[in-house]
Amino acid sequence: MQIYIQNIRQGFSQFTEREGLTFLREPYRSVYNGPAHITVDMERKRRQIRANITLKMTVQRVCDDCLTEFSESIELQSERIIVIGANELSEDVEVITLPADAHQLDLAPVLGEMIVLNHPMKILCKPDCKGLCPGCGADLNISECSCRNESIDPRWEELKKLLK
Ligand SMILES: [Zn+2]
Ligand SMILES: [Zn+2]
Repeated sequence: MQIYIQNIRQGFSQFTEREGLTFLREPYRSVYNGPAHITVDMERKRRQIRANITLKMTVQRVCDDCLTEFSESIELQSERIIVIGANELSEDVEVITLPADAHQLDLAPVLGEMIVLNHPMKILCKPDCKGLCPGCGADLNISECSCRNESIDPRWEELKKLLK
């Protein structure tokens, strides 16, 4: 998403865009490949801009445990301060410094960072997903498989009672 600096007026303004996040690198690019709805709320005071960025999209995911495909709606939010014509680069990652003669603000790096930071370490279709049986591969969310039933021997059930 590119915003022309001259279009950012003093005070409050809002920019919206619907775009594909084609700048993402793999493995994110093939996951977050739907259109993203991006809203940027800005407050400008001379050469300083506060930007509140919201990204909404629907993502197709595959459960790590049972391999079921499902879609998930995500909403990510981040804030940045943009300083135009700063004398020195800021070390604060929340601050974007632009040269005084900059024409455009490119939000692709910020959007990419939001996606990568919020990408789940483990993807589950539901918090209590039972996964696939390691023995026969049956989806244990749908039914118990026969190898699971075999392991429940009545004698073991008796032993369990004794151990309580
Ligand atoms: Zn699952
Ligand atoms: Zn099984």
